[in-house]
Amino acid sequence: MANRIEDLEPKSVWSYFAELSKIPRCSKKEEAAMAWLMSVALEHGLTAKRDQAGNLLIVVPARPGCEKAPTVVIQSHVDMVCEKNSDKTHDFDTDPIQLLVDGDCVSADGTTLGADNGIGVAMGLAFLDDPDAKHGPLELLFTVDEETGLTGAFNIGEDFFTGRTMINLDAEVVGKFTIGSAGGTDTTIGFPTARESREGLSYYRLSIDGLKGGHSGADVHLGRGNSIKILARVLLAAAEADLSEAIHLGSAVGGSKRNAIPREALATVGISAGSEAKFEKAVGEISALISEQLADADPDFTVTLKLLDTKGSAAPGTDNSAMSLRFLQMVAAVPWGILGMSTALPNLVETSSNVGVLIDNENKRELTCSTRSSSSQGLAEVLASLRAIATMAGACVEHSDGYPGWQPRLGTPLLASVEQVYTDLFEKKPEFLAVHAGLECGLFLGKYPELQIIAYGADIREGHSPDEWVSIASVEKCWKFTRALVGHLSERRDGNIR
Ligand SMILES: [Zn+2]
Repeated sequence: MANRIEDLEPKSVWSYFAELSKIPRCSKKEEAAMAWLMSVALEHGLTAKRDQAGNLLIVVPARPGCEKAPTVVIQSHVDMVCEKNSDKTHDFDTDPIQLLVDGDCVSADGTTLGADNGIGVAMGLAFLDDPDAKHGPLELLFTVDEETGLTGAFNIGEDFFTGRTMINLDAEVVGKFTIGSAGGTDTTIGFPTARESREGLSYYRLSIDGLKGGHSGADVHLGRGNSIKILARVLLAAAEADLSEAIHLGSAVGGSKRNAIPREALATVGISAGSEAKFEKAVGEISALISEQLADADPDFTVTLKLLDTKGSAAPGTDNSAMSLRFLQMVAAVPWGILGMSTALPNLVETSSNVGVLIDNENKRELTCSTRSSSSQGLAEVLASLRAIATMAGACVEHSDGYPGWQPRLGTPLLASVEQVYTDLFEKKPEFLAVHAGLECGLFLGKYPELQIIAYGADIREGHSPDEWVSIASVEKCWKFTRALVGHLSERRDGNIR
């Protein structure tokens, strides 16, 4: 087995990857790498252009006889996540990535490798050095800043590329083809508060802890608890135990990231004198029921109620009971978790929403929700219900700009080509899947709605960490498939594939 990069196959892919690895290219610092791509285009006598976002496009004419084939866009991102082991001396702004070859693995020496998505970049360029590759007109699209906000794809120029068939090389391995992703929008609900010191209350601190949390998209199906929703549920259950006029909500906070399931929440609650025992009992009862509900998914969940000693200090400010109740009802009504499953693909969450952060401002409680869907109407429906709930509660509501999703559709001509080429090469049927997270592909579709996309890549493990490695065999398989797919598409004469 070869143990030098120069000896690996396919040679042109590995040689471009080795060249690129010498050039620093952390997210938002891709200029040197883009200049190198420009020089590669010029050396081959090709035109290349940049857009305002910094993305680069190399235009490759069709091979003789394939001029009438649909233009295929081959897309990858140039930036990489820059992480290193703490004992490694490495300056990502100047030092080349040191490539190591061992068995089927290429890794880096104590740093991220950048195979995500450097292998994709190299694979696009490899078409320039393969005189036998059959292809129609190609557009090699290289984006910037995928890893820290997808801003290259977000701000891609209108009419920057002309092809309407795209191969994205930044996804799961060949054979597990990605055909959909989620779009998302954040919503901030501002609920006015009029907290003041009140007479005749006993004060408690209520804390929700021990939940696992997780990613609001990738972990949404695991049935874990949401601390902010639980906080409201516990206090509402107490209100329903004939205490609706006894509960006065003071500060209430929970979560820290809009796209993480919140693990903790904390509130100060003033209870009318005489109702303390009833309140403690109601909190204990509902907490036990929630513990039972979460026994499998979140076994370490706890609710702690602590009577505060406020003698001698100013009483904490609280809202009156009517306002407190209205806020708790609003939080309880806000949708969260899985809200819809895909009908196109099995087991795919189509729509979900997270209640991620509750913060406390002087005159406003602020609740931030993060909603995802691969269906634009699925997303719009949830946003409408968030607006309705906020309006009914007398709160104000604001949506972020958001990003579009990529709705999976089986049975398109492009997928038929993918299936045929894959089956011919590997004598197996491919799988088609979608992710409940944002991808560059969704953003391209926002500006180029007629685009047909297929996404796949090499087998990269431990991505975004210094343990990142890529399987050499998978790179070969990915190249073989891409070359065959592009060749197959070059035989089409029906213009852009719909
Ligand atoms: Zn990537």
